[in-house]
Amino acid sequence: MRILVTGGAGFIGSHLCERLLTQGHEVICLDNFFTGRRENIFHLLDDRRFELIRHDVIEPILLEVDQIYNLACPASPVHYQYNSVKTVKTSVMGAINMLGLAKRVHARILQASTSEVYGDPQVHPQPEEYWGNVNCIGIRACYDEGKRLAETLMMDYHRQNKVDIRIARIFNTYGPRMLENDGRVVSNFIMQALSNEPLTLYGTGEQTRSFCYVDDLIEGLVRLMNAEGAHEPVNMGNPTEFTIDELARLVIELCGSKSEVKFCPLPQDDPKQRKPIIARAEQLLDWTPHIPLREGLAHTIAYFAGRIKRDESLPANPQSVEFEIVSNKTV
Ligand code: NAD
Ligand code: UDP
Repeated sequence: MRILVTGGAGFIGSHLCERLLTQGHEVICLDNFFTGRRENIFHLLDDRRFELIRHDVIEPILLEVDQIYNLACPASPVHYQYNSVKTVKTSVMGAINMLGLAKRVHARILQASTSEVYGDPQVHPQPEEYWGNVNCIGIRACYDEGKRLAETLMMDYHRQNKVDIRIARIFNTYGPRMLENDGRVVSNFIMQALSNEPLTLYGTGEQTRSFCYVDDLIEGLVRLMNAEGAHEPVNMGNPTEFTIDELARLVIELCGSKSEVKFCPLPQDDPKQRKPIIARAEQLLDWTPHIPLREGLAHTIAYFAGRIKRDESLPANPQSVEFEIVSNKTV
C-alpha cells in the first residue's frame, strides 16, 4: 500500500514510518518540522519507497494514498501552548483536510487522538465511554478541545460520508527520538538525571500517569488501522500506573545519578490521574503492551546519553551542519 503519515518526522511518526517501510509499504512522510527533526528520518531517505514532503496540514493537499495516519500536531504542553491558535488550527483544519483527502481518494484514515480528551478525569481508570472533564477555556484547551473536535469530525465524516475511520486515544508514550527540550516529563527527568541536575517535580509528585513504550504503541496503531470495522475510539496505553514521584526515583536509579528532586509549581489544569482501560484494544486487536517501564526507560536513557555524547563531539553550531547534509537529500 501507499501510506501517508502526517507528522512523520516527529517522535511517534518516525517510528511509524520505519515500521511501515519494514512491512513493505510505500510511505509518504508529511511534516512542517515544527517539532519534528530531519534526523529522525534521515536513515529512511535512501529508501526508494520513502518520500518526504514539507507541508503544513492546515493547507489542503492532494495525494493518491490507501491509508492516512494523521499524527501532525505538537504533543508536549510547552510546544502546543507556544502558539495555541496554531495548535487549534492544526488539529481542526488538519483533520478536515486529511478527512477530505480520505473521502476523495477512498483512503482509510487513523486519527492520533489522546487521553487528553478525558481532561482531568473524574472517572478512574478511563474507559472509552467516559466523556471527560475538560476546561474549555484553560491553557490546555487548545490541544484538548482541538483533539476532541478532531474526533467529532472523524465520526461525522464517517456517518455522513462513509469515510473509513480509526481513532486511537493515545496515553503518555515515551522512547527514543523524543525531543530532549520539549518539557515532557520523561525527557526532562532523563536529561536532568544524566546531567546530575535536580529533577523538576511539579506539585507534590502524587499525580499519576501510565507510560507506554513507543514500540508497543506502534504495534497497536498498525493493528488498529488494519482491523476491519473498528470505527469507535480505542484507548492505547500501558495500564500500569505510576506517580510522577515514583518515575523520578526510577529515572535517578537507572541513570545512576546523583540528582535530587526539586519541587516546582504545578501547571494549571494538570490532570491528577490517568490510566487507560484497554479492554477494547485487547478484544478488537488482541493488543496489549509488553514493555515494562524499567525496560523502556533503559532504552530511552541510552538514546539520550548517546545524543549528549554526540553533541559534545560536534562543532559549535551543529544544527546548521545537520541541515546542510539533510537538505541535499530531501525530496
Ligand atoms: P511530536 O511533536 O514529536 O510529533 C508531531 C509532528 O507533527 C512533528 O514532526 C511536527 O513537526 C509535526 N507537525 C506539527 N504541526 C504540524 C502541521 N501543522 N503540519 C504538519 N506537521 C505538523 O509529537 P509525538 O509525541 O510524536 O505525537 C504525535 C501524535 O500523537 C500527535 O498528534 C499527538 O497529539 C499524539 N499523541 C502523542 C502522545 C505522546 O505521549 N507522545 C500522547 C497522546 C497523543
Ligand atoms: N512533570 C513534572 N516535571 C517535569 C515535567 C512534567 O513533574 O519536568 C509532570 C507534569 O506536571 C504532569 C506529568 O509530569 O503531571 C506528565 O507531564 P507531561 O508534560 O509529560 O505530560 P501530560 O501532562 O500531557 O500528561
